[in-house]
Amino acid sequence: MSKDVISTKVVLFSIIGLIILISLTLLSIVMYPQYAYETIKIDVNDSSIITYSDKINKGSSDIAKINEFNSAGFDCEIKEGHPYPYCLTQLNFTNYISKGIDLSSFYKMRVYGTYSSPHPTDFLRIVLMNYHPDYSKSGNVHTYKYNLIELQSKDLEFPIEINLSDLNVPLWWVSDMRKKNVDTHVDLTNIPTIELATGTQASLGIHRLRVSKIEFDAMIITINELYEYIIYIWGVIFFLFVSITMTYLLIYLKKTKSSEQNLIAINDVLSVKSAELELISKHDELTGLLNRTGLKSKMIECLDKKLYPLTVVMIDIDYFKRINDRFGHQKGDIVLSQLGELLRDFTQGNESVTRFGGEEFIILMPEKSIDDVLVRLDKLRIKIEQSDMQIDQQVTASFGLASSEEYSGIKNLIDSADTALYKAKHEGRNCIRISV
Ligand code: GH3
Ligand code: MG
Ligand code: MG
Repeated sequence: MSKDVISTKVVLFSIIGLIILISLTLLSIVMYPQYAYETIKIDVNDSSIITYSDKINKGSSDIAKINEFNSAGFDCEIKEGHPYPYCLTQLNFTNYISKGIDLSSFYKMRVYGTYSSPHPTDFLRIVLMNYHPDYSKSGNVHTYKYNLIELQSKDLEFPIEINLSDLNVPLWWVSDMRKKNVDTHVDLTNIPTIELATGTQASLGIHRLRVSKIEFDAMIITINELYEYIIYIWGVIFFLFVSITMTYLLIYLKKTKSSEQNLIAINDVLSVKSAELELISKHDELTGLLNRTGLKSKMIECLDKKLYPLTVVMIDIDYFKRINDRFGHQKGDIVLSQLGELLRDFTQGNESVTRFGGEEFIILMPEKSIDDVLVRLDKLRIKIEQSDMQIDQQVTASFGLASSEEYSGIKNLIDSADTALYKAKHEGRNCIRISV
């Protein structure tokens, strides 16, 4: 995969991700008002209703319990006889007092119904009664925590809206609990009962209360919390994006590196192979000596570097055909190899030996005149003559020499050596002749 394809992919991936993220952010802000609030309803039809007056504490107020469809409460006549005369109705909406409603996350309540009192300065008392084993005695409602508010009847507009932050725990409850060392703050975590009652100093006369339902509002998430979540999510996604991109690029780099190393390895192998091929192309298979191509490059090198005088020695085995005929072609090959080795041993410094064809060899002797090499060559001729070539017959060779003091062309020099060789053959073989 090319670098360009990768960066196009990363850019595309980022743009799509960004568009999705922006869309989701805008959507959550637009939809926020619709889903930010939760309302729960307490229906009088689903609650058990308890009603009583100060008569249970030796007062004399009369009360009639109202418990009809969609309407619960009382008709009460407050009478003298109790220092704090009262009538009340309790809505119990759970079977177990320890399993009340947790209203701690709610911030508002609405009471649906009506309240009429003899005097506009009378109060309606609303109490969210909280059960907690630390301070509540089972069966004794007075030991529940009284989270309370009193509203003057002249100000009442139904449904009554009450901010739960306006609730208070009354002093009488706090002083009752002083010895128990319990928390005296408003607590709405476990409300099994709501009480609606006449308020402090209820005036004598008829008080009527009807309640149909009570609602509580909670804000699931504030707009600030929403912004915090959005920032958090953006942060997490940005972090993930950077991590994924970095990992992707690291893997890509690793892959590129390993394929680069593979290419280097392949290149090395190819270089070795091409060197081998060059060697093969310039050498003779049977003897390992240079072939014509190899000779040509050697001669060009000599001419280029002006390695004069340059002497060419052409050597041809005498009556080789007969050797083949007598001992077979394989033995003939052995003779060729043996002679090849002899010639290689003979060479010194920058001299080189070529198998020029069949049983013909050329020794190239740069920077040497015929006079310089004649004695050595004659010793070579004798050595060949005396060598055991692994056949039961003496092998001899004829030599033709040509030399050049300056550039006279490759072909000319070889032709001259060939002419001299021809002369050697003609004049009895196993001898050295020089081109004139
Ligand atoms: P002369 O002394 O005049 O050179 O006689 P010759 O027999 O050596 O010369 P000729 O040119 O008549 O014969 C050369 C022989 O070399 C013929 C051929 O069969 C043989 N020959 C050429 N190449 C090879 C080879 O690779 N291996 C073998 N065994 N024989 C070869
Ligand atoms: Mg020949
Ligand atoms: Mg020959």
